[in-house]
Amino acid sequence: MKCRKCREKAVINMRQHKLALCKEHYLEWFVEQTERFIKKYKMFTRDERVLVAVSGGKDSLALWDVLLKLGYQADGFYLRLGIDGGIQYSDESYEKIKKFVAEHPGTQLHVVDAKEMYGESIPEVAQRSRRGRGKPCSVCGLIKRHEMNRIAHDLGYPVLATGHNLDDEAAVLFSNTLHWQVGYLARQYPVLPEGDGFARKVKPFCRFYERETAAYALLAGIDYMYEECPYSEGANTIYYKELLNKLEAERPGAKLHFYLSFLRAKDKDGLFANWEEEKVELHACERCGQPTSAPGLCAFCRLWPEEVLNKPQEAFVPLTLVGG
Ligand code: SF4
Ligand code: ZN
Ligand code: ZN
Repeated sequence: MKCRKCREKAVINMRQHKLALCKEHYLEWFVEQTERFIKKYKMFTRDERVLVAVSGGKDSLALWDVLLKLGYQADGFYLRLGIDGGIQYSDESYEKIKKFVAEHPGTQLHVVDAKEMYGESIPEVAQRSRRGRGKPCSVCGLIKRHEMNRIAHDLGYPVLATGHNLDDEAAVLFSNTLHWQVGYLARQYPVLPEGDGFARKVKPFCRFYERETAAYALLAGIDYMYEECPYSEGANTIYYKELLNKLEAERPGAKLHFYLSFLRAKDKDGLFANWEEEKVELHACERCGQPTSAPGLCAFCRLWPEEVLNKPQEAFVPLTLVGG
């Protein structure tokens, strides 16, 4: 198979685009496409500071890398979860991220260490709190969302970017459709506007297949964490991804078509445009100020004992590493 641009040996064949490319032209194509998606969905401009949520995996590090290549003001945010799972998942992920930062002079990485800051790792909080029920994912999601919003707000980043790819988005869309979760469907989009003190949320990789982001990370020489979080095993989204992969194997492009048709129905046909959220009165959390549906403390602040909540403000400032 030859590269469509230069006729050299192709390293990747994207059947859904009927496009084969060599290493050099693939890296170029991937960066250009990202820029196209950022512009198409009006995600952010070069004047806006972007905070990229990084996990150490291929998607988030590739996203950070591409944004820097494109000249965006992109810094990283990392939440140390304190997950071991026999592979020292958190330690190894952190090492990969620190290596990435060291190789990118001038970039900043803001780190929140759950154990250091709040006194417990994510699995420990999950064990103790009623939300966990053994699996830490619900607590983990809550803490990640809260801390991402807090750091973006406190450090003045109007935009929060995550590395969700097409496989992630199609799996969520499939799940939302299977259960007809209309509220979620109404909100699912590459950009979630800012509001209520929250930064704008963007997903610049939402139109790339997972194998495309993996190919980019490999070919661009990014050293990323191959292992998934040990708690992701058995997750519904993984099952939905497998189902969609079976469909894709029979019908190349089916996943992309599923997601893009959904976006088109929203953009062109106004699908869910008139959907109105049930109006819930929001209150500012008494401790952190983030919006919450019940008066008093928000769900995040309710996770922690008094002595943690009463620590001085300085105890919650993230550690910032500067690249180079
Ligand atoms: Fe957190 Fe994801 Fe791991 Fe669950 S699978 S604990 S949500 S990182
Ligand atoms: Zn080529
Ligand atoms: Zn709060």
